[in-house]
Amino acid sequence: MHFKLTSDQYIATLTFDRAHTSANTFNEEVLLELESIIDGLKKSPMLNALIIVSAKPNIFIAGADLNVLADASEKELDHIIRLGQRVFRKIEQLHITTIAAIHGACVGGGYELALACDYRIATNAPSTKLGLPETKLGILPAWGGTTRLPELIGLSAALPLILGGTLLPSKVAKKRGLIDSVCFPEQLNQQAHRFTKKPKRRHRIFAAQHNILSLHFIKSQASKSLYQKTRGHYPALLRALDVACKGVLSTKQESFDQERRAIIDLAQGIKAKNLIQLYFATERHRKLRIGNAAPLKIERSSVIGAGIMGSGIAHWIAKKHGPTLLKDVSEEALAKGMANIEKLITSEVKSRRTSQVDAAHCFDRITATTEQVSLRRYQLIIEAATENFELKQKIFTKLETQAGDDTILATNTSALPVTQLADSIKNPKRLIGIHFFNPVSRMPLVEIVKTKHTDDATLNTALCFVQKLGKFPVVVNDSPGFVVNRILLPYLVRAGELFEEGHAPELIDEAMLDFGMPMGPLRLIDTVGIDVAVHVATTLATAYPDRMRVPKILTTMHDKGLLGKKSGSGFYHYRTGKIQANTEIQPGTSPLSSKQKIQDELAALMSNEAQRCLNEGIAESAADIDFAMVMGTGYPPFRGGPLTHATTPS
Ligand code: NAD
Repeated sequence: MHFKLTSDQYIATLTFDRAHTSANTFNEEVLLELESIIDGLKKSPMLNALIIVSAKPNIFIAGADLNVLADASEKELDHIIRLGQRVFRKIEQLHITTIAAIHGACVGGGYELALACDYRIATNAPSTKLGLPETKLGILPAWGGTTRLPELIGLSAALPLILGGTLLPSKVAKKRGLIDSVCFPEQLNQQAHRFTKKPKRRHRIFAAQHNILSLHFIKSQASKSLYQKTRGHYPALLRALDVACKGVLSTKQESFDQERRAIIDLAQGIKAKNLIQLYFATERHRKLRIGNAAPLKIERSSVIGAGIMGSGIAHWIAKKHGPTLLKDVSEEALAKGMANIEKLITSEVKSRRTSQVDAAHCFDRITATTEQVSLRRYQLIIEAATENFELKQKIFTKLETQAGDDTILATNTSALPVTQLADSIKNPKRLIGIHFFNPVSRMPLVEIVKTKHTDDATLNTALCFVQKLGKFPVVVNDSPGFVVNRILLPYLVRAGELFEEGHAPELIDEAMLDFGMPMGPLRLIDTVGIDVAVHVATTLATAYPDRMRVPKILTTMHDKGLLGKKSGSGFYHYRTGKIQANTEIQPGTSPLSSKQKIQDELAALMSNEAQRCLNEGIAESAADIDFAMVMGTGYPPFRGGPLTHATTPS
């Protein structure tokens, strides 16, 4: 039993509490049970209203059970889609007023059920989020969502939500017409009962948008912008656009049929399969633990080094976790670090990602010092000092005497051997790599680097901490460049060489933008900084002399002070408003390759290095490597990652 129906003479309340799981999701069994309850309600002539609620603490309904979708054959998919459409249609056609009383996540199929109700009311709790994220998984809402959302709020307002897969907090959802009322969680029941007195809903008529002429205009504008944004890589978006546009002039059943045919086509495709696998990986990494050792509770943390990374990490800890102590040896560096944090917080306030009050709290949580203070009561210290082995070794031997016996010591090094750092302290079990990416506030991946000494308690503490920061950890073994930088480097080096050979930077970058990378390789080197790139390339070239090298062009640029974006020039000039290729440094010309050839060669370099990482056991699984590359570099998610791409090019 997944539902409980209680009722007085006039009002029925249906509580969804899917058995044996913490989330309410729909599969065939659940939908059939729901259908038989709805059928039963049709036989209650005295009833005036039905309220649908959830018994789960932070989830109303999380949508379809994706395990069902991921493995379904065409026939099974057809069956489950028809079933969902039929059950929700029965809810819509009930003779009584129906209300979805929403607290917690109401997404995908969950919001589609809510759309089939006459009214939707939701709590203002932070866990309450509403929307249709299906296109992010390479499919589309097909239990009526692509049909009913335009019917409720008009096509122009519905399209960005369906195509963006956006989840909205309840206040914004109310403003945009997705729900009818917002209340405090304790008022949800009372508010739902108020709505039972309302008549069945009549939909607004959107005559100005829902006519052939306007539709043609809306569709052509939207497909143009989709094509520009995605270079045609996400067929689900174009298909959802088509179904939504056709839907507003079709009968409901015709539109449902279009939804169904579209989801079957899309779900069979490799892109949806890859995106769904990545979703599963995201869920896995959100909760990942190794063994049974309990993580240490982190109440106090400290960051050593207030440079670009240290200040970024301290800012993120203060924003997402709690107080932190930022240390540096230089007053000047510390002041610069704090100025960087202030800049980050100010930009969050400006873009309304943070309120003034939260911004002030965030800033107050950071204590900055150059003094020697006691670190005994700190549970975690993250070292993000200058990339120099001897310096880091000194820092850790000193930290070991200053910190408590259980304090976890972490390094943010990009390329230095973490095992050797662990070897230089008395209790190497507690040293670990926590490798954040730059910029910390924007990069979702963190590599958790374990050595042969690291114990599970240390590992789980690092995992738990990083998850609390809202980042996705991937566990990797200590090895030069870990996973992400190691796989990226041959790709970046070859891009540099192609430039040396005379290929225009725009051609190289465009080739990889066409592949689906968020930024071309030469623009990426400019953004990271030529100095950082030379440093990482040198370390990796020493570790893997057979196949990695530092391209001459990088050393030449470094010597000329062309450090990339930060210095105003690199492969491109950044000083004027328009970014232009830096033609003065192009050393030679050679017969040009096509974009396709460049793309194939550069993509293969990433896939090959990823395969080596897998063979050497640097990560636990192929899925982990793929996940790390998507989250750490923006490797095109629809391709699944460099290993999936090598076996099933999409
Ligand atoms: P940075 O040069 O910007 O900052 C290093 C800071 O460490 C400086 O402020 C310096 O004064 C301080 N410092 C030096 N010795 C110290 C000591 N004994 N105690 C306390 N502070 C000390 O460097 P960064 O780019 O922030 O990199 C820091 C670490 O993060 C490095 O290990 C680097 O490899 C790693 N990392 C860097 C990036 C990146 O893109 N910059 C990305 C990931 C990881």
